[in-house]
This record gives sequence, C-alpha cells and structure tokens, in this order.
Amino acid sequence: MQSIELLPLGWTPDRAEAFAPHAAAGLVPGRVSLEHNHVYRVLTAAGEVLAEAAGKLKHEAEGRNALPAVGDWVALRPDPSGGRALLRTILPRTSWFSRKAAGRETEEQIVAANIDTVLLVFGMDIHVKPRALERYLVVTRRSGAAPVVVLNKVDLLEGEEIEEVLADAREVSGGAPVHLVSTRTGTGVADLEVYLSPGRTITLLGPSGAGKSSIVNALVAGHGSPDALPIGAVRPWDSRGRHTSVHRQLVVRPAGGMIIDTPGMRELQLWDTDSMDESFADVTARAGACRFRDCRHESEPGCAVKAAVDAGDLDAGRYESFLKLQAEQAATARLRDERAQIVAKRQARTISRAIRAMQNTRDKDRR
Ligand code: GDP
Ligand code: ZN
Repeated sequence: MQSIELLPLGWTPDRAEAFAPHAAAGLVPGRVSLEHNHVYRVLTAAGEVLAEAAGKLKHEAEGRNALPAVGDWVALRPDPSGGRALLRTILPRTSWFSRKAAGRETEEQIVAANIDTVLLVFGMDIHVKPRALERYLVVTRRSGAAPVVVLNKVDLLEGEEIEEVLADAREVSGGAPVHLVSTRTGTGVADLEVYLSPGRTITLLGPSGAGKSSIVNALVAGHGSPDALPIGAVRPWDSRGRHTSVHRQLVVRPAGGMIIDTPGMRELQLWDTDSMDESFADVTARAGACRFRDCRHESEPGCAVKAAVDAGDLDAGRYESFLKLQAEQAATARLRDERAQIVAKRQARTISRAIRAMQNTRDKDRR
C-alpha cells in the first residue's frame, strides 16, 4: 500500500488536537474519499483503506447527523488482518452541506464535509438569476464554507453583455469574489487554482448545465484535455469493475488541493417558499385556524399551530424546525429586498443617463 501524506489532505493543528485522545486509544486518522452503502473509502497515512461505521457510531447517528460523509476526518481502528477498518469517530467538522434524507420528514443527511471554498457556477448563456445566486450564497455561507461566484461560458457573450452580468453578480455577491471563466477557451480557469492550494478543499454548486463538470475536468486534468477523467474519481468501486453512479468522491489533485464532486452535492435542494410549504404541510395546514392572518406561530394569541404542539397533535421537533427555517427565510427575504433596492437605484441612474443623453442630442440638433 502506498503511504499518503496527511497535510496535503487538509490535516491541521486543530484536527491533530481533536484527534489526540483517539491516537492514545490506538486509532489512526483518515479522510473519507468515498462512500457507498455505508462503506467508506478512507485516505490514511498507511494508504487507502475500506472502513465501516462502528456499531456505536451508527447508534449515535440515529436521529442525529453523525454518519460520516465524504470529506470527513475520522478516527479508525485498522484491521490488522487486512479486512475493513472500523470507523469509530468523526472529528469536528469545519463546514458541511446537508439535505433531507430521502423519505424522511425531518432527518438531515450530510452530503459533504470540511469544504473550504464553494464555487457557485453559473452559465452566462442562460440568464444568471440574481435570486438563484442569492439562494446559493445563503446556503453556502450557512455551511461554513466561503462562496466564490464563477460566471462560466464567458466566450458566448460580448463586452457590454459581460459587463452587465458581472455587475449584477457583484451586486448580490456580498463581497464574494466573482470570476469570469470559459472552459472552452480556458479563460480564467487558472485563476481558480488559488482556491486549490495544498490542503484546501473546494466543491462546486450551481444549476445543471452551468459547466461544473467541465470546470472540474479543467482543474484536475489541466486545460486542453477536458475529457480526461478526474484522478481516482471514477475508479470503479468494487474489484469486479461495476461502476456505480451513486458513490461520492473526493478528488486529490496532483497539483494540489482537493475537489469534492458528489451526486449528493449536485442534488442539493435549495430551500424556497414553495418547498417550505410542501415540506411543512403538516404545520402550514393548521395555520388557517390561527386568529391572526399574519400569525408567525411564535407567541401570538390564538395560534392554532402552537395549540396543536401543546396538545401533542404536532411534533415539537417539527415545529422547531419550521420556526428555524421561517427565520432563515425572513433573513433571506430581507437581503433580497435590500438588493432589489440597489437594483432599482441602478436602473433609475441608467434611465436618467439615457434621458440626459437624449436631451444632449436634441439640443445639438437644434443648434
Ligand atoms: P454541469 O451540468 O454543470 O456539470 O455542466 P457541464 O460541465 O456538463 O457542461 C454543460 C454544457 O456546457 C456542456 O455541453 C459543455 O460543453 C458546455 N460548456 C461548459 N463550459 C463551457 C464554456 O466555457 N463555454 C461554452 N460555450 N460551453 C461550455
Ligand atoms: Zn399561528
């Protein structure tokens, strides 16, 4: 087995400190590079090993978000006879993305962890919707990772159009860097490498078709060979070579840095009002009976939602999740309103400039 250095995988003094008690217990550290059916491929100093979650860990995971995910740093008990290692503990995460577990009402499933930077990729060929971008920014900031906006397919637009899209993106980006990129011509791709210094991990989010795979390929394989396969990423999961499309991946770049590109991240569902009504139908169904039409179901008198919780008809945990999400949405909406005002001001400026220009021409004509 080939030995692996941990520092380029993102091992830090904080992680070493968190791991110290486990080292004393004879465990070894590793980073999850792939998960499939609760079997994990883990990068350790002694090489890549397969691991299973220990019974205790699994038990803790019930109802909690304790199952390991791609990107997690874990403490393993290796099997001296070469069998699967036991994954005992997940070290504290610096960031994580989650989604609702399929078929479960409230349970969250971690889809990726310990990501430093998220490239929010949008294609300039279709209109980049500031609202969609905002939602991605909110989700990213909440994860604990830093967002970077990537406007791809810049080859499809011309000077002024590019400036317009860029200005719109800058307006909502809230200080996040904005990059213009074309994987087709190679423009701007190299600039993204600053987020891939050794030990740093990125992931990509954005609408389907925006160019995420193309960017991963360009970053991993280098410009000029967009069809090259990410190193180690699509190595078949099992020895019989069966390829599974549901596995998760952490790609270690030979040139430094790591890219997490998983189906789970791709399917990440971004909250919006509709999905909230849908996912909290049991809560919102009762809102009609509240005394006040604009009841927020917090401490208003005559609140039918609260009454249902008190009576035990509505799960208190569900109610709390609802309130949390409601608060988040209110914050997002406020942000959106602020941005909308900025856009309106800009439009007003543009219009007044256009009017002035028109007047100048007319004045000239009269002279
Ligand atoms: P993903 O769904 O976000 O992974 O997007 P893909 O990487 O699969 O790209 C979607 C489509 O956009 C493909 O047909 C790509 O060839 C095309 N594409 C990707 N990058 C660029 C680019 O910079 N310029 C142009 N014109 N097309 C691109
Ligand atoms: Zn109410």
